[in-house]
Amino acid sequence: MGFDVTFWGVRGSTTCSEPDYMVYGGNTACVELSLDGREVIIDAGSGIRELGKKLIREKSARATLLISHTHWDHVSGFPFFAPIYSRHAVLEIYASPQEEMDARAIFEMQMSSPFFPMPIHSVPSSLIFKNFAPNDEFFLYDGAVKVITAPLNHPNGATGFRIEYGGKALAYVSDTEHIQGREDENVLKLARGCDLMIYDALFTEEEFASHVGWGHSTWQEAVRIAKKANVKQTALFHHFPEHNDAAMRVIENTAKEALSSVFAARERTTVSL
Ligand SMILES: [Zn+2]
Ligand SMILES: [Zn+2]
Repeated sequence: MGFDVTFWGVRGSTTCSEPDYMVYGGNTACVELSLDGREVIIDAGSGIRELGKKLIREKSARATLLISHTHWDHVSGFPFFAPIYSRHAVLEIYASPQEEMDARAIFEMQMSSPFFPMPIHSVPSSLIFKNFAPNDEFFLYDGAVKVITAPLNHPNGATGFRIEYGGKALAYVSDTEHIQGREDENVLKLARGCDLMIYDALFTEEEFASHVGWGHSTWQEAVRIAKKANVKQTALFHHFPEHNDAAMRVIENTAKEALSSVFAARERTTVSL
């Protein structure tokens, strides 16, 4: 059984295209899970553009998108995701309703005047929108893939996912803010014993002190959760736009000293579980 995880966008908040961001990457959140030919994509930040081109090249006609929340950095790539313009593509898009708008209405708004010239109803692909509520569990691909969700601590809300397939588990925990000194049962539920945890490590602990309430966490908290929940590998994710490659190298090395199974996610790299 194959469970391959590819990072197409690892940056948080906004894209960074400066040359000193090219080692870790400047595209925003998008992670591809290849599960023996079954495509599951988490978030549609700017990184999904390159993934879309790959799917077109491979003639992959079916994919499922799980959207953690609809802040720009998690959906900005959706109108530039090539499969939505292919009449062969069938895309299931799971998102949590926001402000009384269901999944379809949110994406309709994104692809409408004055934000975007082409309305979503004019694209030739089959887009199947599915709503879910926090803590829902559901299956994809005729029961082969299990998805467990939990609400995260983030302004406007966000959802964390645990995806189980072929005896392996991945936890995607972005965007979330920890409360110092308190365990987050929702995060632990997703992370417990998983093979890879992708965790919002936007800030260092020093930076976090002046950013309480922003809805993001730290690499130090990632290490604490990984130890507590017996996580096998941890990917620091949603990198701060203020952290260029030199800063990211220091963060990654320091985190590795605290726990050797931690690494900082780099764009266009694949981890096989
Ligand atoms: Zn974000
Ligand atoms: Zn957010």
